[in-house]
Amino acid sequence: MDAGQYGCPSWASSDIDGSSGSSIYSTTYRNSDGKEIYTVTYTAPDDVGGGLGKNSIGGGKIGDNDNTEDDKIQTKFNSLVDEKKYQESLDYIVKTFGFNNTELRQSNSEIKVTDEQFPAAHTEGDVKTGACQTINVPINVLIHARDGSIGWGAFVRSIGHEYVHVDQKSGLPVMMDHNEREFLAYVYTLTAGGLPKLDNDDHQFYFKVMASYYAKLPDDKKKVYKDTFDKVK
Ligand SMILES: [Zn+2]
Repeated sequence: MDAGQYGCPSWASSDIDGSSGSSIYSTTYRNSDGKEIYTVTYTAPDDVGGGLGKNSIGGGKIGDNDNTEDDKIQTKFNSLVDEKKYQESLDYIVKTFGFNNTELRQSNSEIKVTDEQFPAAHTEGDVKTGACQTINVPINVLIHARDGSIGWGAFVRSIGHEYVHVDQKSGLPVMMDHNEREFLAYVYTLTAGGLPKLDNDDHQFYFKVMASYYAKLPDDKKKVYKDTFDKVK
C-alpha cells in the first residue's frame, strides 16, 4: 500500500516539548516521590460518559448509557466491512472515537489494514521520540469484529490500545519497558471511558492479561503502579 496515503511524516524530536499531543484528558503517572513517570492521553476511568467534545481521546461520541448511538456506529462499521471497504471502516472507527485527536498521534502514526494472518492489531515502530508508528490491523480482525467473534467493545478498545502504544513509543519520554507499556495499555483497554463496554468474558480475559504484565514489572515499578492496578476491577 502507499504509505503516503496514511501520512506519517517524521516529526523532529526538537519539535517535541513534552506538552505537544497532551491535553486536559491526559493522565500522569507519578512515582512515590511525586516525580512524573509517564503521561498518557486518554479518557480517564472517572471521566466516563459522552459529551467530552471533539478533542477528547477515546471518547466523545458516546457514553456508557448511550447504546443507541453505539448501535448506529456499529451498524455503519458493519456495512462498510460488508462492502469490503476495510480501510474506510477502520478510519471510521478512528475518527468516530477520536483515537488520533492529538498532534502527536496525527504526526507520528499511521493506521492501515493488512492482509496478514494475525489475530490482533499491533503497532510497529522504533521506540524513539518522534519515530513513526504504524498500526497494522489485519482484515481478519475487521471481519471478526463484524461477525461478532471479536466483541464490539474489545475491538474498539483494541484500536485505542494501539494508540496508547503510539504515545508510549514515540512521545516524550518514551517508555522503554515492553511490560510496562502493555500493563498501561491494558489498563486503558479495561478502563477507558466513552467507549463501547467490554462484555464480561472479554473483561476477565483482559484483566488476566493486564495482571500478567503487572506481575512481570520490577518491584520498584510495581510500587509505582500499585494504586493503578488496585483501581482496575
Ligand atoms: Zn499492546
